[in-house]
Amino acid sequence: MSTYFRATDPFPLESAEHTKLSAFWDRLGEGRLSTTECAGCGRAAWPPRGFCAECGSDQYRWVDLPDTGTVHAFTVQEAGLPAGFAGPLIFAIVTVGGHRIFCVLVDADPTRVSVGQRVRLSPIRVADDPKGNARWLPAFTPADA
Ligand SMILES: [Zn+2]
Repeated sequence: MSTYFRATDPFPLESAEHTKLSAFWDRLGEGRLSTTECAGCGRAAWPPRGFCAECGSDQYRWVDLPDTGTVHAFTVQEAGLPAGFAGPLIFAIVTVGGHRIFCVLVDADPTRVSVGQRVRLSPIRVADDPKGNARWLPAFTPADA
C-alpha cells in the first residue's frame, strides 16, 4: 500500500469532505465556471468564498460565470514545469464577468497568444485526490480555435 504525501500534491483537495466550496469543483467538472454571491449584500467574490469579505455574512449562493473571457495578462513557462504538465505552459489572468481568474491556457500556441484575446472555458482534469475523486482546474482555450 502506498502512502499519500499531501506535501507533494500541488492541487487542492476539492471534495465535500475537504471543503464547503466543493460545489465549485463539481460544477467545473461539468464545464461550468461559477463563484459565490453573498446572500447578504449580493457581492460576487472571486475566488469563491465561504463568507463575504464585504459584510461578513456566511450565507451565499452559487452563480455561473460566462464561459468566455479575455486574456488580461499571460506568461509562458518552458522549464521547471509542475509534474504532469507538458511544456511550454501558458499561465494567464483571464477577465471573466469582471473577475480576474488565474488559470492556464490549453491548446494555444504561445507565439500567438495576445492580451485582449478571447478565450473559452476548457477545464482540465488533473490527478485524482487520494480517495480517487476526480479533480479539475480552471483552464481556457482560444475561442477561435
Ligand atoms: Zn456580503
